[in-house]
Amino acid sequence: MTEPLPLTAGETIAQALLRPVLDISERRILLGHALGLTRIELVTESERVLSPEQAKRVTDLYARRFGGEPIAYLIGAREFYGLRFEITPAVLIPRPDTELLVDLAIERLPRQGRVLDMGTGSGAIAIALAHTRRDACVIALDLSDPALAVAKRNAAAHSVQVQLFCSDWFDALTDQRFEMIVANPPYVVAGDHHLGEGDLRFEPIDALTDHADGLSALRQIVKGAWRFLEPGGWLLMEHGYDQSAAVRALLGATEFVDIQSWQDLSGIERVTGARVPGKP
Ligand code: GLN
Repeated sequence: MTEPLPLTAGETIAQALLRPVLDISERRILLGHALGLTRIELVTESERVLSPEQAKRVTDLYARRFGGEPIAYLIGAREFYGLRFEITPAVLIPRPDTELLVDLAIERLPRQGRVLDMGTGSGAIAIALAHTRRDACVIALDLSDPALAVAKRNAAAHSVQVQLFCSDWFDALTDQRFEMIVANPPYVVAGDHHLGEGDLRFEPIDALTDHADGLSALRQIVKGAWRFLEPGGWLLMEHGYDQSAAVRALLGATEFVDIQSWQDLSGIERVTGARVPGKP
């Protein structure tokens, strides 16, 4: 791929779209974002001429994308569970695979259930849950204040009630109890080559890796969850492509029952969970 040549004022939308750089769908997204136009408007107004400011804005976005910056950070948004989320470099970009965790949570949460989302980031999981299950009481934690600010704006944008707290895993909790705990914690092993590739290079490192064996956050969650779950309450955790057996083993060393893993869209065991014995 060649480096994008600067666009000049006087070029049209059609010419800007034809620049042989980046994937065409990415060019559409960036151009639409820079000009404030929909996909359809890019077509219907393709002969519109770019102003100097617009040409510069598009050139900058093309160049930043060429340099590897994730589309979600360039446009400040990503869709997850059918909802548009504001995304900044303070938060992990929501992945389609994580929708599995939301589906499993929705299926298992009793009416008016209280659910805790640990390490909420943009709030994607908590807000998707609260949006789908209006009866639920959703509490979300994160250690990062900038992430909590993004989650707060996302909850407001979708008109859902999510209680947000700054907490290092369970530290800020006292005597609360939940029918469910969900988490998509940092699980990438320290030094994993993926951290130096693609979008991950630009994402908050502490949201991706525990800087250890990849299981330390999952271990802490398994260890602490018991105390905060009601009888029959579920713990559901997303994890890495090769960690399902290890996470089942962590749960197997406790009193949790119904330990199981579920496959993501690519057929990879991506979520593992278990339940506290007893009736909800
Ligand atoms: N799923 C992310 C990846 O692409 C990692 C997210 C996480 O660590 N929770 O590797």
